[in-house]
Formats: sequence, structure tokens, C-alpha cells
Amino acid sequence: MLNIVVLGAPCSGKGTQSLRIASFYNLSHISTGDIFREEIRNNTPVGHMVMSYINKGELVPDHIVLREIYRKATRKDGRNGFVFDGFPRTLNQARMLDKSLLKKRMKIDLVIFIDVGESELVGRMHQRSKNSQRTDDNPDVLARRIHIYRNQTFPLLNYYQKDGRLCTLSGMDSVESVFMSIRQNMDNYLNNK
Ligand code: AMP
Repeated sequence: MLNIVVLGAPCSGKGTQSLRIASFYNLSHISTGDIFREEIRNNTPVGHMVMSYINKGELVPDHIVLREIYRKATRKDGRNGFVFDGFPRTLNQARMLDKSLLKKRMKIDLVIFIDVGESELVGRMHQRSKNSQRTDDNPDVLARRIHIYRNQTFPLLNYYQKDGRLCTLSGMDSVESVFMSIRQNMDNYLNNK
């Protein structure tokens, strides 16, 4: 059993890398963003609730996020463990996640932080807003998402660093080399487990 959290700013590549980690290590991938987009597509009550937050680049309230992630995790095959992508995003979410895993005698083993510099992020945001179909990928909303990330999600680095779970690596290289360095860190952890 191996539970991983992938942290990174919007446009850091965390979605792409999370999928690769899940596939390579045979883990279940859970993306809160994907869960919400699916609810919106299916026109469900949850979809209606979260749509305005997402379209403004704001965070969906914790109680909705926690309920939905719990629902998804219990439906998925979590035998080998999970890769959490886009969750947690607030200190409260991180604490709640640790608490509920502890009840099941489980834990987050490793937190992978994909570090991308501010000017690179701005460039990627610019590119992404030209090609993306997502309603929250326009320049204003992307800027708001980065702002929220800095204020609400960045403190998580300290939270995970304190007990040695944080592993920071550069996200400035190609998808392939970022994944190679994730693998190195994960294999190192697994070998010393
Ligand atoms: P993402 O696909 O991870 O970039 O998420 C898209 C949007 O979904 C975010 O900008 C938030 O509005 C919402 N969202 C996703 N995950 C969370 C979370 N853990 N907490 C609050 N809101 C979230």
C-alpha cells in the first residue's frame, strides 16, 4: 500500500505526472478537479454547487471536497494505494486526510511537490489559455487560481516538510525527465521502507 500526494501550482504538470505515477506503480488516481468536472458535465446537484467556484478560480468549500473525495475513494479499487492529484489544497483538508487515513491505519507516504518558477508558470498559463477547453483556463481565472494556490496551498509544504514526507523536485524540465526524478525519489522511498 502506497499513498502519494502530488502538489504543484496550476500549470506545474501535476495532472500529467499524477497519471504517470498511478499507471507506473499501479495505484488508483484520484483528481478532485476531474471529479468536479464530471459532476458538472453530468448536470448533477454537486456539479451545480461547485460550478461557480471553479469558474471563478476559487476553492470549492472543504465540506464538499471531503465528502466527494471520500465517496470516490470508497468506490475505487484502492488495494495498492492512491495518487491524490489536486487534493489536499488547504491545511484543513490535509489534516482531515491524515486523520481519516489514520483511522484505517493508513497514511500518506510521500508528498511530491513539483516546483515550477513563477515566470515559467506565467508562460505556460498563457499557452494553456489559448488551447484549453476548460472554462477556468482563461488568463484572469488562471491568475486567481495561482493567487489562491500561493495563499492556501503553499502552506502545505511546511506541513508535510515537518514530518519528512515532502519531496521537492524541479518541474522545469521535460515531462519525461520530471517523471524520472519522481521515480528516483519514489524508488528510494520504497527501497528504504
Ligand atoms: P484542478 O483540475 O486540480 O486544477 O482543479 C480545478 C478546480 O477545481 C480548482 O480551481 C478548484 O476550484 C476546484 N478544486 C479542485 N480540487 C480542489 C480541492 N482539493 N479543494 C478545493 N477546490 C478544489
